[in-house]
Amino acid sequence: MKKVLILTGTFLFLFIQFVFSQNILEDKYDVKQYILDLQISNTSTLISGNVIINSSVTATNIDTFVVDLIDTIVAGQTYMIVDSVFVNGISNLFQHYNELVFIPLITAIPQNQQFSVQIYYHGNGAAISQTNYKGIKKYNYIGIIHTTTFSEPTWSKVWWPCKQDLKDKADSVTFYITTDSTNISGSNGVLKSTDSLPGGKVKYKWETKYPTDFYLISFTVGPLSEYITYAPLPGVQDSVLLQNLLFPGSSYYQTHLEVINKTKQLLYLFSELIGTYPFKDEKYGYSVVGTQLGAMEHQTMCTIGYQAMDTTSTHYGIYYFWYVAHELGHQWFGDYVTFSDWNYIWLAEGFASYMEYVALQNLESQYKADYWIQNAQTETMTQPVGSVYDSFDYRLMYKKGAAIIHTLRYEINNDSLFFAVLRNYLSTYAFSVATADDFKQVAETTTGINFTDFFNQWYYGEGYPTFNINWSQNNDTLTIVSNQTTSISITTLFKTHFDLKIIYATGDTIIRLFQGTNNETYKIYFPELVDSIEMDPNFWLIQKNFIITGIEKNNISFSFE
Ligand SMILES: [Zn+2]
Repeated sequence: MKKVLILTGTFLFLFIQFVFSQNILEDKYDVKQYILDLQISNTSTLISGNVIINSSVTATNIDTFVVDLIDTIVAGQTYMIVDSVFVNGISNLFQHYNELVFIPLITAIPQNQQFSVQIYYHGNGAAISQTNYKGIKKYNYIGIIHTTTFSEPTWSKVWWPCKQDLKDKADSVTFYITTDSTNISGSNGVLKSTDSLPGGKVKYKWETKYPTDFYLISFTVGPLSEYITYAPLPGVQDSVLLQNLLFPGSSYYQTHLEVINKTKQLLYLFSELIGTYPFKDEKYGYSVVGTQLGAMEHQTMCTIGYQAMDTTSTHYGIYYFWYVAHELGHQWFGDYVTFSDWNYIWLAEGFASYMEYVALQNLESQYKADYWIQNAQTETMTQPVGSVYDSFDYRLMYKKGAAIIHTLRYEINNDSLFFAVLRNYLSTYAFSVATADDFKQVAETTTGINFTDFFNQWYYGEGYPTFNINWSQNNDTLTIVSNQTTSISITTLFKTHFDLKIIYATGDTIIRLFQGTNNETYKIYFPELVDSIEMDPNFWLIQKNFIITGIEKNNISFSFE
């Protein structure tokens, strides 16, 4: 027992020291450009080549250059070996351990000076686990063997050396992919050239001039077929290129074309609502791969499982639509504006999930959108605890994350203002990173509403409210008592507006009330004879409720404890 404790202490110490030293040394430079030049197979996860990292010095000077790259994770299966290193074209010593490459510079480089580090390496980037998306994945779908990558959150270093710091986007990325000439490739940005090489090889040059975070860089290689089309955008002269890698001969091929067509509508809609597609000068598109479901929002080219783009699936009614709206939403939320720390991944997943709702509401029907948001709220309430902040949990990050954005929209109570908040947030942090508090600040500046309670309750806080509502009517006075309890004591009150639907013999009306304390009594002039009352008829809140009637006239302070 004691021995275990001592060991744990040692590991903790090493871990803290490791993280500390990594940040200090990697913080000394700012990545300007990555140039990847890799030999990639469609039938193997083996990889070789070199990566050039062009940077400028941000510290007073830099004497050791450090970059992330795994050494051996699983012997013979997942490992990377550095062959040689060049700094400004001159051979340099290096050490490779703790999943880092340490390059002691011959002479320290002073602040603001640009320099270039080139790392030659080879290895096997096989995904660390076949069920998790951590590295290079090889698939065989209907005999079409292909490879692709999944790097979120910090698995880029499984297949290429890079600085895994969200706050340091590369200003541009060039990716040379050398592979068998029977393969095509997909990656970030624009395919600039295709050069035939001796020995049945081909070299593709992909390039993006948009700032890109490390985990959004990806490739797909295989004997796939390319499908190109163009999507018009509102208020923009040129259509945006939609470049896709599809499976020739797949029984899903037609449905994949349908999804690409639907994507045109989504691109137009999202551009109207939250600002022009941020990567319009390059492209959007899908790399369809052999995983069944699942998708990843690689910048300008989403990697997606072939069944996630199945328009005939009736799973959840309209499952593919959720996927494609979500992944496209990420191009704004996550890619264009990235969270500055993984604690704030809500800024990507919560918002991309909410774009599923927005897409359903605008391109399908309010009925389907209502179904979606009720599902998110119900999923959230399957457990009484959990905050959106600092969560990687499906229920909290995606479902509660989206549901509280819906509640924010309700609190703003003005759709054009709500979408102005989203546009202002995106344009303020364009091609950069943000925190949840940065978003809150923009929401407050745009609307003039203070969202401190909102964030403390719904984002940092845990659980959800239960409204115990008791109503009675005395002539033309409707008395409503709302006693609010919460699912977990860490959050004792959700100060919030809420809607009640008042149903009477000849119709119904919705009233909007505000709960500022746990027990509130409202007296409302209401001349119609009330038949019944419904809580939150338009599904704005994560909440449960109990509604009863029959408070005596003199007993309005009755409470339900
Ligand atoms: Zn997502």
